[in-house]
Amino acid sequence: MVALEVLGSPEILAARAADFIAAELERKPNLTVLVATGNTPMLTYAELERRVRRKELDCSSVTAVQLDEYLGVPESDPRSLYGWMRRSFLEPLGISKVIRFDPKLESDHACAYFESEVTRAGGIDLAILGLGPNGHLGFNEPPSGPLSPTRALELTPESLSSNATYWGALPVPTHALTAGMNQILASRRVLLLVSGAHKRDILARALSGPQTPDLPASFLRDTDLTVLADIEAARGLK
Ligand code: PGA
Repeated sequence: MVALEVLGSPEILAARAADFIAAELERKPNLTVLVATGNTPMLTYAELERRVRRKELDCSSVTAVQLDEYLGVPESDPRSLYGWMRRSFLEPLGISKVIRFDPKLESDHACAYFESEVTRAGGIDLAILGLGPNGHLGFNEPPSGPLSPTRALELTPESLSSNATYWGALPVPTHALTAGMNQILASRRVLLLVSGAHKRDILARALSGPQTPDLPASFLRDTDLTVLADIEAARGLK
């Protein structure tokens, strides 16, 4: 089932996303949540933080699941995606239970351990995702089919250049670990946040083009999917 809501601005989108997440938490306080970094969800996380500070929201029973990580980047490195998740989501929301890619393990073991921990937690209740400019989810780069497992992979030139905007002068790591399409698509609910005119074309293709490994996000249509798009991203959608 796909529900699409078009919101007037990124701020209104963030408020609506926070309402959606709060309603899920109301239903199940010990939610297991897959957490994207990237620019799009940051306003949503800031809104959640405001609600936690005002004691309107309690996230302390949540288990957060890391979506992706660069390979060979320690947590102390400013480019660490775990570090970004910690600063933007875990610490502000008071979340201490985390399933992550264990940096002490070699990559295949880190991926196997990650999948076993997600299984042990009972699977992912809610995936909060952004949409890659090339249709990737996490670092499931095209081509990634629906059964692609949690794994290490090489980033595409398109992701390298879009990720460069996050890190200023620092080089973008070329290899990464990602939660697999298998994990993302098995999530009980998916919240896809899409903002900005630069996402317009890829969003239209993800929602109504062919479902293909060349556009991993197109497989989200097989999940219980809610898309929150701002007006700039949604313009032109039928
Ligand atoms: P963005 O990244 O939210 O910074 O646009 C999305 C992504 O690349 O997955």
